[in-house]
Amino acid sequence: MPTTPVSALPIHLLDLAAQHAPIQSEINAALQEVLSQAAFIQGPAVGEFARELGTYLDEAHVIPCGNGTDALQLALMSLGLPAGAEVIVPAFTYVATMEAVAILGLRPVCVEVLPDTFGLDPAAVAAAITPRTGAIIAVHLFGQCADLTSLTELARQHRLALIEDNAQAIGATWQLAQGPAVFAGTVGEVGTTSFFPSKNLGALGDGGALFTRDEARATYLRQLANHGQTRKYYHEHVGLNSRLDTLQAAVLRVKLRHLPTWTAARQQVAALYDDALSGLSGLQIPVRDARSTHVFHQYTVTVEPGRRDALQEFLRERGIPSVVYYPVPTHLQPAYQYLGYQPGQFPVAEQLCRTVLSLPIHPTLPREQQHYIIGAIKEYFGAGAQ
Ligand SMILES: *Cc1c(COP(=O)(O)O)cnc(C)c1O
Repeated sequence: MPTTPVSALPIHLLDLAAQHAPIQSEINAALQEVLSQAAFIQGPAVGEFARELGTYLDEAHVIPCGNGTDALQLALMSLGLPAGAEVIVPAFTYVATMEAVAILGLRPVCVEVLPDTFGLDPAAVAAAITPRTGAIIAVHLFGQCADLTSLTELARQHRLALIEDNAQAIGATWQLAQGPAVFAGTVGEVGTTSFFPSKNLGALGDGGALFTRDEARATYLRQLANHGQTRKYYHEHVGLNSRLDTLQAAVLRVKLRHLPTWTAARQQVAALYDDALSGLSGLQIPVRDARSTHVFHQYTVTVEPGRRDALQEFLRERGIPSVVYYPVPTHLQPAYQYLGYQPGQFPVAEQLCRTVLSLPIHPTLPREQQHYIIGAIKEYFGAGAQ
């Protein structure tokens, strides 16, 4: 085994310390301001952050909340679906997408995804729609949009609500068939996002938000996220206590200013991986949908069946971390066995769980480390170390 050059280590999957270092004084000042104002819940920074993020997203309404999972739950609550209504979710996503459905007594209906972009397969969605279907939750997995053109059209035809789980693709855009490019999360009835620290726009703890272009829905969502109150101590709806901390909002205001630069840096890392790894036999680089930009929350390759785990081990031995997002499809998670799904029902999702691997990608990943990672992957596939 080749010895690892010391200068190349350690390699991080994500490196929040390096990301924060150059903006430490901005973050400190933001935190200090909240401390001196001592308005920790619903302080001024929360509204300011919501307005600034809304402006960034082409004037969408932004409703901050406690985390990305609550955002999904609030989005569903705002639809007022009858108990037991079906909600379509991808068979390949983070579990939160389906969890929010189940916790409300709605029925998650898992649907197959596309093998190249990992988004909901519109034909499979069409086949899964029944008279009981109330909503579709599309996930923009790893930083690229699901097919928003087809999914919007399906939702319109069947009078269903489209929710966009945009926890992984903040800032990505989608080119509609007609009109301008639109921001992921602002196309459906409601979009949701997460500010979990590792997301592209991450807080220093939990946080989330909802997006909508409908002002009345924005007002309703704001109430739902704050105990369903229309004014203090008057509760018109059964809501949640799900608010974004003022401290987190203050930090997010600082970080939002840097998001475009960080996204561009992620795209540069991806471009170098693309160049070096495309055409490698046994490995597929992330496939792009020409209608979407990709903000590379993850750089996820698929590996020839049977070779993924050995590649991950080969990289690990060389000090290169990688992650399998996700090892189990939603329909086979133990907690959801009551839905009655069987192995083999969603072969694409199941195959992806066996073949995907996410490589280190973050805005401060040193070039030297990237070349080292590329060299190791090429070596594994027998394509020479450079
Ligand atoms: C992170 C994530 C969530 C949940 O967000 P939290 O803030 O951790 O609750 C939901 N959906 C997807 C696709 C995610 O990646």
